[in-house]
Amino acid sequence: MPELPEVETIVRQLRRRIKGKTIASMRVHWRRSIEGRPGEFRRRMLGMTVATVCRRGKYIGIAGADGTFFTIHLRMTGKLVGEPVAADRGHLRVSFAFNDGTMLHFVDARKFGRLRLWPCRGAACPGLGPEPLRDAVVLSALRGLRTRRPIKSVLLDQTILAGIGNIYADEALFATGIHPLTPAMALNAGQQQRLAEAVPRILKAAIGRRGTTLRNYRSIDDRSGENQEHLFVYGRAGAPCLECGTPIEKLRIAGRSSHVCPQCQKMPLAGGRRAHTPCASGLRPR
Ligand SMILES: [Zn+2]
Repeated sequence: MPELPEVETIVRQLRRRIKGKTIASMRVHWRRSIEGRPGEFRRRMLGMTVATVCRRGKYIGIAGADGTFFTIHLRMTGKLVGEPVAADRGHLRVSFAFNDGTMLHFVDARKFGRLRLWPCRGAACPGLGPEPLRDAVVLSALRGLRTRRPIKSVLLDQTILAGIGNIYADEALFATGIHPLTPAMALNAGQQQRLAEAVPRILKAAIGRRGTTLRNYRSIDDRSGENQEHLFVYGRAGAPCLECGTPIEKLRIAGRSSHVCPQCQKMPLAGGRRAHTPCASGLRPR
C-alpha cells in the first residue's frame, strides 16, 4: 500500500497533470469504488475545474474551484494512470475525461480503493491524526501515549499519526534501535526524542526519492521511486543487517509483518534496563 511519501509523489505529479483542467465527462466502471451515491458523485464532478490537488495522510484530495472536494484512497492496488496499459484494462474502475482531451483513470485490481465526495475540504477525513513531517508534532503524539500496545501498532494507527505504513514504521524503529513490540508507554524520553526525529527525516528523504517502488505502487508518470535502494530492514528478511551483519528477522505483529534486526533492536527488560544498547550511531547515512 502506498504510504505518505508515495502518495505525496502521486499528488505532486497529479497536480502538474490536472490542475486547471475541467472534467468534461466521467465513467464509473465499478460503482463500489465510489463511497456514497455514484449519481451524486457524477453530478458534482461534471464541469468541475480542478483548483488544487493535495494530500492528507494517505489520502489524495482534489478540490474544485467551486468548493467541491473529493478524496481518493488507493489502498492495496489502486493507481491513477493517464494511459492504461493492457494489464490495466480489466481493472478500470472510474475514468475522467478533461476538456483538453486528456484522461485520468482509476485502476484497482483488488477493488479496495475508494473515491469519496465530502461536503467541503475542512470536513474531509475526520479522525486522522496530525501529519508526521515535523519533529515537534511526532514528539507530542509519542509523549501523549498511555497504551501498552506495541509501538509498531501505534505508528500504524492513522488516528495517532497520519500517513505512516509498514515500510516507514519498520525503518524508523530500526533507525532508533527500538524493538517494534516495545509497549508504547515504555519508551523513555530519549527514545521518544530519537523516534520523533527519525520519522520526519525518513519520510522526507523518501519523498525526495519519489517513494519506494514495490510490487503494487507505480507513480502516474510510470517512473519508479528510488527509496527501495535505501531501506535498512523492510523487505530484507534473511539478509544481513547493514549495521551489524545479523540476519534481519520477519515477525508478525497484529497481523502485519515487521522487519527487525534482533541485535540492533532489543526489547527492554522489565525494570527499565535494556537488554542491549542499540548501535551508538543509531542510523548511519549511506
Ligand atoms: Zn543490526
